[in-house]
Amino acid sequence: MSSPTPLLVVGSVALDSIRTPFGTSERSLGGAATHFSVAASFFTDVSIVAVVGEDFTAEDEAVFHERKINIDNLQRIPGGKTFRWVGEYGFDLNTARTLDTQLNVFANFKPELAEMAKKSPFLFLANIQPALQREVRNQVDARFVAMDTMNYWIEQTRADLLETIALVDALIINDAEAREIAGEPNLIRAARKILQFGPQMLVVKRGEYGAAFFTENSYFATPAFPLEGVFDPTGAGDSFAGGFMGYISQADKIDQTTLRRAVIYGSVMASFNVEEFSCDRLRRLRFEEIRERFHRFKEFTHFEI
Ligand code: AMP
Repeated sequence: MSSPTPLLVVGSVALDSIRTPFGTSERSLGGAATHFSVAASFFTDVSIVAVVGEDFTAEDEAVFHERKINIDNLQRIPGGKTFRWVGEYGFDLNTARTLDTQLNVFANFKPELAEMAKKSPFLFLANIQPALQREVRNQVDARFVAMDTMNYWIEQTRADLLETIALVDALIINDAEAREIAGEPNLIRAARKILQFGPQMLVVKRGEYGAAFFTENSYFATPAFPLEGVFDPTGAGDSFAGGFMGYISQADKIDQTTLRRAVIYGSVMASFNVEEFSCDRLRRLRFEEIRERFHRFKEFTHFEI
């Protein structure tokens, strides 16, 4: 009998149009679940729960096959249109401006998970409607659950979002989202407030400044990998979460050592993702390159007392 995929993710699979100061890309493969699963696939087996339309081509799907990502729970709606996101970045690559969001097939998506998928021990609720994240969370008997969200959902569906946050072990969001959810400008105070909403841990992604990790009794932070060429930040947060969850899913135990390493692996995966559009850099990536950057992190954050 086959066993469940260790890591399950629900979230957007999208066709993105992106403008950065360095170039534009029309209709490239994106979506939170896409970037997440590609990054996580370097560490463990991943399965995607999502929906696409008829406009999603075999070429769009190819990356899932290349990375051996299970798409048994990726529904295709005849006549439907895939989720679309149009965004742009100025010279401050930390902040995406959303120009258009079209939920399309996600608007009426009711995921019915296969029995096997309900047994995945690790679950990531990538960015999508919080009610949909919750629907999946309630179907899966997972040991460890993490989630992401964004300003769009914080502003449109706040009550739903808080209900979902209460059901997860870890929240992985960026600093602006942390401030907005908590209604608190100071990040340390915002973190404390968010931990009271339910999760035991909070990871705050800070773009080119790195990431911070909070539990009730501990704090850990890392800078970002010092890159000279950031080309397209889209998907950085999802690749971070993919490295973080991918590493945890294959670890023997979830303790501080594992969690801190997971923050570094997340940072490593994000650093590769931003070097090119879409998943292009990760499609060529080798695990030796991941390991090398992981060791570089140890070197450039070390100091003597
Ligand atoms: P990030 O890692 O935050 O840069 O996520 C980028 C991805 O999020 C893009 O590929 C978009 O397709 C996707 N996205 C943008 N807006 C939303 C939204 N409201 N819900 C779900 N996914 C979104």
